Amino acid sequence: MSVVYFVVIVAAASLAAGLMGMVINPLIFGGTAADGLLIWFTSELVDYLVILPVILTMPRWRLPPRNQRRRELRSINWLLVAPVLTLLLGGLLGLVISGPGAISYLVPGLLWCALVYSLFVTAVLTLLCSVWTLMAVSVGYLHLGSDFDARHALQSFRIGVALMVLAPLAVASVMAARNELLSQLQHAASHDRLTGVLNRAGFMDRAEGLLHGATGRDRPFVALMLDIDHFKRVNDLHGHAAGDQVLAGFAQLASRCLRDSDVIGRLGGEEFAVLLPDATPAAAQAVAQRICDACATQVTSLLDGTQLVTTVSIGTAHAPSMPVSLEALLSAADEALYRAKQAGRNQVVMGNLVPAVVM
Ligand code: GH3
Ligand code: MG
Ligand code: MG
Repeated sequence: MSVVYFVVIVAAASLAAGLMGMVINPLIFGGTAADGLLIWFTSELVDYLVILPVILTMPRWRLPPRNQRRRELRSINWLLVAPVLTLLLGGLLGLVISGPGAISYLVPGLLWCALVYSLFVTAVLTLLCSVWTLMAVSVGYLHLGSDFDARHALQSFRIGVALMVLAPLAVASVMAARNELLSQLQHAASHDRLTGVLNRAGFMDRAEGLLHGATGRDRPFVALMLDIDHFKRVNDLHGHAAGDQVLAGFAQLASRCLRDSDVIGRLGGEEFAVLLPDATPAAAQAVAQRICDACATQVTSLLDGTQLVTTVSIGTAHAPSMPVSLEALLSAADEALYRAKQAGRNQVVMGNLVPAVVM
């Protein structure tokens, strides 16, 4: 709908310019009012349709730090260049096979760009293509037919170029809406609604991905298994809503104790798991203890004014070298968690070393 609104507004603005042309053309250039309307309307239409989208979709941009720039350059998928190459081919084709059809040689490339690139990049490429087509015709590189001198042919050409940009803009808008929806869907499928952290499937995927990418002794991993103590009592004494409040508060607290590279997920109920990449057992124990202490001091204020304090038990497991199975790592941490519960809860218990799998 944005594209429809955009076209209606641009057409109205061009018409306003055309009305000025109706007055100015007879007065200054000695032409007819009708020609003034058409000339001013078409030249403004093409200007607005190709330039405004670039301004309206311009992202807020800042130069990334130098090392990130290098990383981004290395991660570019060079296949992404294919749409823009198709566009260039379309431009070259116009020079080789000139004729009335040349105006649409750029359309396949533009549509492909709209499917692959962002709305802003598509708008910029569309602007460049329109400028190229208009200039190439006016300097005689591109010949659109022998009767181009016919009355209104130039205006018709301008309208043609202006309307040509609508297809890629509409496609790129639909793609932007689709990508936004897809990322919302992806987020909903991999995150837990109550606590905002990854759900079981999301955690397993992310953790498997991290373990899979690691090799040798250079990247030790530690897994934590966390389980809120006597959580059933919270539900029984204060109601399910209070339990939910405790769960959400705990997830926030644990996340605050972690680095960006750590992964936390809610495996189910009041049970959470954390994967710490590049962590020594001592560092992992410190993190686990921090979460344990922070939980024991965090007060949850319920709606009825009750002040609630809960504790958590944590088991850890350390994998000093890769490759290692995520299941083995989590089950070793789970076993340590069981020992923490047995030993009286509200504590961290270090689990066994998990050996690398022999491939
Ligand atoms: P322990 O110290 O041994 O871990 O005891 P516990 O009471 O924490 O453990 P138990 O497994 O007996 O109870 C877990 C409870 O968590 C039972 C279940 O009703 C509750 N629960 C599971 N999911 C949710 C949820 O999404 N919201 C709320 N409020 N409660 C939940
Ligand atoms: Mg529990
Ligand atoms: Mg439990």
